[in-house]
Amino acid sequence: MSPRIAKSRPRARTKARAQAGARATGPRPRHEKPPQRPPTAAAKARANQILDLLEQAHPEATCALHWRTPYELVMATILSAQCTDERVNMVTPALFARYPDAASLAAARPADVERMIRPTGFFRAKTKSLLGCARGLFERHGGEVPRSLDVLVKLPGIGRKTASVVLGHAYDVAEGIAVDTHVLRVSNRLGIADSDDPLVVERQLMARIPRERWTRTTDLLIFHGRKICIARRPLCGQCPVFALCRWEHRQAFALGGPPRARRATSPSRQGVSRKRTPTPGRSPGAK
Ligand code: SF4
Repeated sequence: MSPRIAKSRPRARTKARAQAGARATGPRPRHEKPPQRPPTAAAKARANQILDLLEQAHPEATCALHWRTPYELVMATILSAQCTDERVNMVTPALFARYPDAASLAAARPADVERMIRPTGFFRAKTKSLLGCARGLFERHGGEVPRSLDVLVKLPGIGRKTASVVLGHAYDVAEGIAVDTHVLRVSNRLGIADSDDPLVVERQLMARIPRERWTRTTDLLIFHGRKICIARRPLCGQCPVFALCRWEHRQAFALGGPPRARRATSPSRQGVSRKRTPTPGRSPGAK
């Protein structure tokens, strides 16, 4: 056997094996990010330390919606999309007095519901969601709110975020972390998450924080985002987790205002126009 042949055979086998492997797993689509590495023990400890401090600073943080039964919490959470909790709390007493359960709401006339929930905005779409969800609860679950995220998200008007809120607060069941605009912004600024995508942020937070803290994580980050880590003008000088925060503008805001230089860090996520960019944004990287 000549040396030339002996060298060429292994190369050919390696290439064939690589091609077979690529066929078996399939090439990764270009837009798909590579899988993230699991967080380190230090990253988990840091996230939990932040939660400890937020817990001390905001012991009153809880779901601000008014509700008495799981059914009411489901409907109030649907209404809270693109609306303040205060406004939802203004319309729900009359709504729940007239439609106290899924059966009564399922039989409601859309025009009547639209009139009642109009102040919460998007009232036509929300009426569709409320009635569809009520019918689903009544017809498929005997009027009861299921205790499983996978079952809940099959109901009209209920997404992962609503399901996590309902399970966590109505049943003390933690199957996910609800990521709304506040959780998205605050967790990115703190550097305990690093993405514009709520689903990715949820996965990152779940990997860092123990399950028993998932529901509190949502409550605390939302409360902190409303009171201190405000989208446009965060009160960094009063922030209990300032020392652990990774947001690049925190020093400037602690000194009383945004930095002068405009940055291009994800303004769109916060609904902030590019004219006033520096406020939102995320930390250089979640660690
Ligand atoms: S230091 Fe500022 S940016 Fe960081 S969490 Fe606190 S308020 Fe938010």
